[in-house]
Amino acid sequence: MPPLSSYEMVNAYFDEAAQLVRLKDELYEVLKTPYREIDVQVPVRMDNGELRTFRGYRVQHNGARGPYKGGMRYHATADLEEVRALASLMTWKTALLDLPFGGAKGGITCDPTGMSPREVEAMTRRFTLAISHVLGVNRDIPAPDVNTNAQVMAWMMDAYSSRYGYSPAIVTGKPVDLGGAPGREAATGRGVVYVLVAAAKLWGIDLSTARVAIQGFGNVGSWVARELHNGGIAVVALSDVSGGVSHPKGLNVPALLDWASGRRPLCEVKQTGGVDRISNEELLSLECDVLIPAALGEVINEANAERVRASVVVEAANNPTTPEADKIMGDRGIKVVPDVLANAGGVTGSYFEWAQNIQQFRWKEERFNQELEDAMVRAFAATADFADRHGVSLRRAAFAIGIERVARASRLRGYV
Ligand code: NAD
Repeated sequence: MPPLSSYEMVNAYFDEAAQLVRLKDELYEVLKTPYREIDVQVPVRMDNGELRTFRGYRVQHNGARGPYKGGMRYHATADLEEVRALASLMTWKTALLDLPFGGAKGGITCDPTGMSPREVEAMTRRFTLAISHVLGVNRDIPAPDVNTNAQVMAWMMDAYSSRYGYSPAIVTGKPVDLGGAPGREAATGRGVVYVLVAAAKLWGIDLSTARVAIQGFGNVGSWVARELHNGGIAVVALSDVSGGVSHPKGLNVPALLDWASGRRPLCEVKQTGGVDRISNEELLSLECDVLIPAALGEVINEANAERVRASVVVEAANNPTTPEADKIMGDRGIKVVPDVLANAGGVTGSYFEWAQNIQQFRWKEERFNQELEDAMVRAFAATADFADRHGVSLRRAAFAIGIERVARASRLRGYV
């Protein structure tokens, strides 16, 4: 059998949860498939004078509960199928967190690491204008994802505003100077830690003696590492695309954050004071208590799930575990906190930013963090309670809660 695509993997999780909540057949296709898919050409004049044509996508999966919401990914492997998968995850995530949003995702097939800032800016502006007719403050609101950041959101906001008038609420994850919310940049990583702390409390795990391994040291991974370190929890391994480093007693996270802020790869960190090099594959099977994938999808799969030695996996990345691996880890008693719950701090923080933009009012960061913690702890408790009552995994419970909410909204709005 050919391997499942990322969209088929998400749909496998959807199918299991849809059965659990006895989703009516007539609603099944409506909820499972995307509402709208856009695939556009993005021609860019490169610095060497050559004209290159990239492909850009926006998939609006479901808008029953509010405007479409989801990140924009710039990556060589980003394609329509992956964007579909990620858009579907956003639908269940926003519903699980009870945010007034639907689910969407976008991306461009490109390698921005090999492009100049001017080229990335030109590509971003072209792409934004090409899809601007389906965006809108009450229609579809993009956010950062892999290889996009606050600067990319600023360009998107400016391109959109040049056509439709000043619209800060058209994207979230903006720079604070342009209406971004203090706390948003850290929100995904902080949310992961809030959920981990809530899970540890429920499962009787003492985090003060736990060893945590994190794959990915970008926006999400670096904030998870920082927050764990600040909370006195040992980060024993960290990696980026180049490879990683480990220390059985805990890494010097502030020094590594400083190293990475200079755009230096982790594989070049000096091996002093007991620090060892570790590959991305070795990190996944490292002896530790908590494993946090915070980079790309499908990294825990049939080939390596047997080797995972952590007792808890917290999915900071989207779609990091294939259904086969999910089953293997479940059978082995490993507790998995699924992506739609674990990394929902990002979109929850985006909701706070969007709401502040619409009200033209700014919260203090303390309020942002407190509301975020409340939302994440509430969602974890609801998911754990559902899982317990139905005797299912947290993933199935999270999808089931989301599906029930979207189904109810679809019926009430008269879609079906
Ligand atoms: P980012 O671009 O800031 O960082 C990605 C990190 O992954 C980098 O450290 C990069 O070196 C590393 N990486 C890339 N390819 C890798 C590979 N093949 N092996 C190992 N590491 C690799 O992206 P991010 O915003 O931190 O997103 C990371 C994950 O979190 C993604 O799955 C994303 O969808 C998810 N996520 C992000 C947000 C957000 O607010 N940014 C919200 C929810 C979920």
